[in-house]
Amino acid sequence: MQWTPESLLALAYEKCKNCHGTGLRGWRNNPQPCRCVLRNVFRACYRRFVYCVTQDRAISKVNLASPGGRDGRRLYERPVEDYIADFLLVSRRYLDELEYRIFRFHFLLGADWRLCCRRLKIEKGPFFHAVYRIQQRLGRVFSELRPFALYPVQDYFNRRIPEAGRTGKVIPMPARTQGRVTPVRPPLKTKDAA
Ligand SMILES: [Zn+2]
Repeated sequence: MQWTPESLLALAYEKCKNCHGTGLRGWRNNPQPCRCVLRNVFRACYRRFVYCVTQDRAISKVNLASPGGRDGRRLYERPVEDYIADFLLVSRRYLDELEYRIFRFHFLLGADWRLCCRRLKIEKGPFFHAVYRIQQRLGRVFSELRPFALYPVQDYFNRRIPEAGRTGKVIPMPARTQGRVTPVRPPLKTKDAA
């Protein structure tokens, strides 16, 4: 994500005491997005995550993507499932043990602060400090992840493999079978299962 003054301004909290609504903090030669911007990045990614995991699985679509390369081979991808997996795996990787337990209880399982504090045996103040810290850390990671950042969310779902990300390696595919060709059958909801 390339930050611009306009994108920072759009994500900033207008009453923020650190950036005063500009979304920018730090010295002029090393400007950084403010914490309020990073928290809003996390919230945008989290909203899409909730939407992805609660939508009807039957409408999840399979895309045929072209990764580039000389042989022109193409591969199948499931953007919704990819996004869910990236959101969970990146969060697990970048949070420490306590932060991940809070993230899991509060954001994934939907427990409110009272239940989280009782279960994790922590006070309300440290709990909310940890929640802010989690949102800021993941907001930064989600927007800086390479080659596919989770934010902006619409760019993730309309992604194109950038030139720099192409390795030139041939994607391994199963050898073509002689005779009958087995059609691709993604799991679909049947009438019996409905
Ligand atoms: Zn701010």
